[in-house]
Order: sequence, then C-alpha cells, then structure tokens
Amino acid sequence: MSTLQPVRGTHDLLPEEMRRHRAVIERARGVAERYGFEEIATPVFEFTDVFKRTLGDTSDIVTKEMYSFSLKEGEEITLRPENTAGVARALISNGLHQSLPLKYFYAGPMFRHERPQKGRQRQFHQIGVELLGAPQPQADIEVIALGRHILEELGILQDTVLELNTLGDPESRTAYRAALVEYFQQHESHLSEDSRARLTRNPLRILDSKDEGDRRVVADAPAFEDYLNETSRNFFAEVRRGLDELGIPYQLNSRLVRGLDYYTHTAFEFTSDRLGAQSAVLAGGRYDGLIETMGGPATPGIGWAAGIERLAMLVQDVTPAARPVAVIPVGEAAAVQALKLTQELRHRGYVVELGYSGNLKKRMKRANQMQARAAIMMGEDELKAGQVTLRDLDSGEQESLALESLPARLETLY
Ligand code: ATP
Ligand code: MG
Repeated sequence: MSTLQPVRGTHDLLPEEMRRHRAVIERARGVAERYGFEEIATPVFEFTDVFKRTLGDTSDIVTKEMYSFSLKEGEEITLRPENTAGVARALISNGLHQSLPLKYFYAGPMFRHERPQKGRQRQFHQIGVELLGAPQPQADIEVIALGRHILEELGILQDTVLELNTLGDPESRTAYRAALVEYFQQHESHLSEDSRARLTRNPLRILDSKDEGDRRVVADAPAFEDYLNETSRNFFAEVRRGLDELGIPYQLNSRLVRGLDYYTHTAFEFTSDRLGAQSAVLAGGRYDGLIETMGGPATPGIGWAAGIERLAMLVQDVTPAARPVAVIPVGEAAAVQALKLTQELRHRGYVVELGYSGNLKKRMKRANQMQARAAIMMGEDELKAGQVTLRDLDSGEQESLALESLPARLETLY
C-alpha cells in the first residue's frame, strides 16, 4: 500500500469541499449562538477510560470502532469517537458544575474504525451541542428546535424527517429491560449471534438490529409505551406538546433506542432519504446519568451531534469564494508599486492576487482563470504619470485612471 495515499477512510478537504464544510460549521455556530450556546473545544484524544465508561463495554464504538494506543508511560489513549464524553469530562475536570446550566457548541474531527463507504469515514467531522444541568422537558424542546433551525439555515430541512422516541426514566427502563430480556430469551434461537451476545448486556440494542431474523423477532417484542411510568409519560407529553406548539413535525419511532443505561427520556434523529444507506444526519437525546457514571456530580444533560460530511452533501447554496482583484505589474520598475497597491487594497478588504510570473498574456489568463472581477495593470510610463489601467473582466472594458481614484472606482464594480 502506498504511503502517499491518504489512510483508508480519511480524506483531504480540498478548498472546494472545505468551503462547504466551513459553510456548515459557520452557519450552525451562528444559529447556536442565538440560542446561547457557546463554543468549546476539547482535545482530540482522551484517556481510553473516558469513552469506555461513557459508551459502555457493549457499544459498537467501544467493541470495534475505537482508535486506541498505549503511551510509553503505560497510559491508554483513544482518539475521540464522539464529543459528549469529552465535554462531560471537561465539565468535571474544570469544576464547571458550579455554574449550571451550561450550553456548549462544538465542531471538529472524530475517529471511528468502521467500514468506509459513502457518508461513512474513519476520520469524519461533527458539529454538536450539549445542554448540561437542565432536567426540564423545555431543554429537550430547545435542543431539538436548535437542531432543526440549523437544518433550516442550511436550506436542507425539507430533505429531513424528525424521528422521536422516549426511553423513560431509570425505573421505566429497568422494567422494560426485564420484559425485553424475558421475551428475547424465549426467541433466542432465532436471534443473530450479535444479538444473542447482547441479550442480557444490552437488550435494547437488539431493537435497532438490521439483521433480518432479528427484525422478525423484534416485530412482536414488548413496546416501551406499556412500561413507561407516569413521570416518564408526562415528561414525553410535555416534550411533544412543546414541539407541537412550535409547529415542529415529527414521527414517533419506538425502535429509536440508545443502548446505554444513562440515556433517559427523549431520543431523536433527523434522517434524510437523500443520503442512501447512511440516512442519519443529526442524532441526539437525553443522558441524565452520564456524568454520574463518569464519577462526577449527578448532572442532567441533553444534546445531539451531526455529521458535517453528510450535511455538506445535502447543502446546495454555498457562497462562492470572493472574486479577487488581479494586480498586474508590467515591467520591472512597476513591481514595488504593484506590491504597495496590493497591500493597500487588501487592507481595504479586497481579495487581491498579485501576478508576478509569466508574461503579460499569462498573467491575464491567470486573472481570468481565478474569476477575478477586475485587473489593474501598472506600466512604468503610466505610473510616472500617476495613472493605472483598470480592466473590467466581465465587460472587457478598459480605462486609464489616476491611482488615487482607483479605490473609489473599484467599489463600483463590487
Ligand atoms: P450510524 O447509524 O450512521 O452509524 P451513529 O449512530 O453511529 O450513526 P452517532 O454516533 O449518533 O451516529 O453520530 C451522529 C452523527 O454523526 C450521525 O448521524 C452521522 O451524521 C455522523 N456520523 C457517525 N459516524 C460517522 C462516520 N463514520 N462517518 C461520517 N459521519 C458519521
Ligand atoms: Mg455508527
């Protein structure tokens, strides 16, 4: 395998793709700020335990997707597969629970060793939010509304559907879990090997198995609804009422689960049928038990994460790069003047490309290739008279004008 290829499952973000990528992050960040979410960045690697404890020993991520390595000092390190654990760790390490509630936005690379395919990489990027310290259903509503608002701002809301479910409080969950284990044990012989392994450790995960045989068994499995206690039912009713009031449509999906015990109440996902097999764009839920699981003070939390690559695939209207001004000196003596003008125009806010290689024809050709709006040609004799030549590259019209009046004239072209 050539070491000059990117590692399987990773890719370069060349300028064209980077622009889409950045559009997603910038618009999302802008909306998140309006909801009072401030940006945070945690390290891209953490002690392996941070993820093991929070994601659980039976999750796909921990069992097969983590990039882990040992340091000389004997420490076990893992490249972050997601950012909630890192944010929770940061809350504990920095003693931030003194100032709850806290609202965070993040964007950055995540790493999972899974089979690469369209919409699935080994290094990918996520934006996400976490709202910590708010146990009320209003927080769930706000976090979902924020996710939706971002999809709207990206112009892709119409391509998505919001799916919603509740996992109830710990009491309801324990009751449901017991019912599930009993049911699946009766049908054990029809379950896939993976699911048999999950049977007692993580039975909820069987509900979203993609295996055909599992699906047939799951079809008649007990429904969570029947095991929700009153508190859980009321909580979910509040969330739904808030979404209804805001005119946010959703589909109930009782198969939308999170396997781990610290997940409670709301689980949701925005999916799109325009992405092929990898339909999940933005996924989240409430994780009231997570921070305690990590050894911190009991702190409720809710959040979501969205894949930037998947969002970028859906986004249509990306602002094109600003059109530059091309400054083209003609003859040696004009070089310094051209350099000075270039700097002045950059300070005025223009994107300026200084052409200094090749003959005049080549420099003009390059100006056109880079979609420059105008070219400013500076010849020695002209400069002695304080003049330059401005060519409007859209109309092809050319004029000679005083150097001082150039900024004002340029303004009329943009
Ligand atoms: P999936 O079902 O697609 O594996 P997931 O449940 O593993 O998703 P989460 O851990 O909830 O996903 O991550 C949230 C979002 O991050 C996903 O909805 C998706 O948009 C994106 N995502 C997850 N894994 C990848 C990946 N390997 N490559 C690209 N994007 C990803
Ligand atoms: Mg996955």
